[in-house]
Amino acid sequence: SDHMLQYPAQPSDFDVASHYPAFKDSGKRPEFADIGCGFGGLLIALAPLFPDTLILGMEIRVQVTQFVEDRIAALRIKQKSEDVKDPVPGKYENVSVIRGNAMKFLPNFFEKHQLSKIFFLFPDPHFKARKHKARIISPTLLAEYAYVLRPGGIIYTITDVKDLHEWMVKHLEEFPLFESVDEDVLLREGHGGILEAVKTSTEEGKKVARNEGSKYLACFRRLPDP
Ligand code: SAM
Repeated sequence: SDHMLQYPAQPSDFDVASHYPAFKDSGKRPEFADIGCGFGGLLIALAPLFPDTLILGMEIRVQVTQFVEDRIAALRIKQKSEDVKDPVPGKYENVSVIRGNAMKFLPNFFEKHQLSKIFFLFPDPHFKARKHKARIISPTLLAEYAYVLRPGGIIYTITDVKDLHEWMVKHLEEFPLFESVDEDVLLREGHGGILEAVKTSTEEGKKVARNEGSKYLACFRRLPDP
């Protein structure tokens, strides 16, 4: 249950300085959101690729969120130490995590059009039909994702569960503010590093690879408001 969670009353209450001290005077806000970030593999992989972009993971499990927080803190400290010969771009100052239920109050965290990318990597499948309403992609939630994602922004989804893949594709394609975008188009536009991270960087993605499971990728572009 999430009745103990603290939500900002409005996006301006989100404390950039505490999450990204190095950016406290930058005027920047998180632009990439990793929904259900788990142990944070994507955040860590993207951090050096986008050193000037603030990236935020959202995770509902307390211990897992704490793990990611500690992981980022440790990486930042290590990057600051003298014996790091080749510090990575951004030194992990640009990634952070919050505990929260992404199915509730997402617009409390992000302003309209604040995000340029939203990631749903290996979301919980909720196999049974009566549990489908618990899925992170649904018509109601898509309206919220469309609100926080700017026109031209991209939603990345990947799963090893074919039924969930088809479900996400169906709902995203039916939603008027998203259009499907092929992987090779994204590659040509220079999103190769992101796609690689989406497929291979997360703990769940690695587990699927170890078990030689399939990975179904689907990406969608946010269309302009009508
Ligand atoms: N994306 C990660 C990866 O690829 O390794 C984690 C995948 S794991 C199967 C799904 C994650 O989503 C879990 O860590 C779970 O706690 C989190 N989660 C589920 N529902 C959520 C919600 N409503 N809001 C935020 N996180 C959620």
